[in-house]
This record gives sequence, C-alpha cells and structure tokens, in this order.
Amino acid sequence: MTEETSRPRPAPRGDLHTQFALAPDPAKLFARRADRFAARAEGHELAPYLRFMADLARAQAALLPTLPLLSPIQADHAARAAEHGMPPIDRARLADDPALTATITGFLQAAAALAMPAPATAALAHLRADPAVQRQHLANALEDAVAADAVAEHVFIAAALQLHAARLAAQLPPDLLTPVGTGLCPACGGAPVACVLVDRPGAHNARYCVCATCATQWNAVRVTCVLCGGTEGIAYQHIEGRDDGIAAETCNACHGYVKLLSQAEHPELDPVADDVASLGLDLKLQDAGWRRGAMNPYLTGY
Ligand SMILES: [Zn+2]
Ligand SMILES: [Zn+2]
Repeated sequence: MTEETSRPRPAPRGDLHTQFALAPDPAKLFARRADRFAARAEGHELAPYLRFMADLARAQAALLPTLPLLSPIQADHAARAAEHGMPPIDRARLADDPALTATITGFLQAAAALAMPAPATAALAHLRADPAVQRQHLANALEDAVAADAVAEHVFIAAALQLHAARLAAQLPPDLLTPVGTGLCPACGGAPVACVLVDRPGAHNARYCVCATCATQWNAVRVTCVLCGGTEGIAYQHIEGRDDGIAAETCNACHGYVKLLSQAEHPELDPVADDVASLGLDLKLQDAGWRRGAMNPYLTGY
C-alpha cells in the first residue's frame, strides 16, 4: 500500500457552476451496476459473490418498470424540510410507505428466481415467510444499521430499499436540495457509499459523495474529510502498482476513511460495485487501524 500525504492548505472551492446535488437515474443506475459487478467478477477471488451481486442489480433493474407510480415529494414539503436543515425524504416515514412494502414484496419474489449461496437462500426464505422479519430488517436498513447475525437478510432488504429510495430521489428537483450535515445525503440523510471524482462540463475533477441508499450525489469540497469535516492530515492510500482509479482518503483527525473513485480517469467505476470489488483495500486499511466510514449494505461486517 502506498500513501501520499497532502499538506494542509486552504480548502479548494468547487467551480462556481458546480451543481450541489445530482439526482439518480434509476433506469440506468441498476443496469450499469449489474454490468459492472459482472465485469469485476472476471478472475476476482470474490467472483461468486460479485456474480450474485450482479444478479441482484439486474433484478433491481428488471423490477423498475413493474413498480407502481410514486407520488412525488411536493416542492413545498422539500422547502420546509430545507428550512429546518432536514432532507426531504423522511426515513422515519418510509417504514409505513405502502409503495416501499410493495417494492420489498416484489423484489423478494424476483430474487427467489436467482442462483445464490445457501445462506442467502435461507435468509430469503426467512424474509418471505414473515412480514414482521421484513419490517425489522427494514427498520435497521433505514438507520444504516445491520444486525451482525442477519447480514444475508440485510442484503435483500437494503437492495429493495435502494430501489425505492432511488425512485423517490429521482423525482426531487436537485435545485431544492441543500446541505444537511457533514457526510449526509441531502436527499435522504444517509451515509455515502464512496465518493467519485467526476469529469463533467463545469465540474472537472469535482468530488461528489454518492448516497449508499438513494444514489443521490452531492458535491463535497476536496481534501476535506467527508466524515468529520477536518482538513488537516488528509492522505490518499491505494494498493501499490494498481492503476484502477480507486484510493482511500484517510483522515488523521477521526481515523476514518472513505474511498475516492476517479470516474474522470475510469468512467466505468461504479461506487457500489467497485467498493465491494476493492475489499482488499479495506482489509489493508483496517489492519493498519483505519475505520471504514462509508456504508455499503453489500459489505457489511467490514
Ligand atoms: Zn440518499
Ligand atoms: Zn475525519
């Protein structure tokens, strides 16, 4: 592993025209993610798991056109939430959203047709047999928390929640979104899965955090810890000799790290798929005492 330490310096400002938030496009998001998981599975030591993840993402994409229309979050509700520094998607109320319940039911049914490891088959049967179990895991997923003895159940519920949350976020006018706190998604208040460096008109190499739940992206000033807001003792670590565009931004102040994926150099990088596929970087960092600050329902337990 190699490390480059940055010297403390004034935090650079993004381009004036850099948009603060970008809404996800669910129709493309899950299909691309499926392709990326499948591509990363080639020759990877985690190939069976990555192929299962590809199938889950494909099931997410396939379910999209069958889901009932959502009633969009009203602009006045979003404006009121912003006045109080709150995200417009209220996670506490999602648990009782019938559209989310329908999405979970549909996704669990679709997942039953997939080939999967035995523990996942058992977890899926457990969930399908008991709506109370689904509700319990949904409550955990809505808090970005996982029960250590139920990681397999969490994967299915989190995948269904991603689908619903991305559809909700896709309907939010990005101009309505305002910062709600360091390292928090401005649409749903969730944690990032990773950050990306993008190359878009008006945003060359700008950094965006990507929400693990709703896939909204929000601009975050570079060389600033997205976990604690610290600007000193920020360093970048990557696996030596690997030019894959994936690094971890470590912070001496909070001892946390979040991965930084350069889509500017490697447009094919997917924050969720490449986060799972770069688990080796997490293991090295955690051996060295760094704490993973990002959330990924497919990497729980790490
Ligand atoms: Zn979000
Ligand atoms: Zn920090």
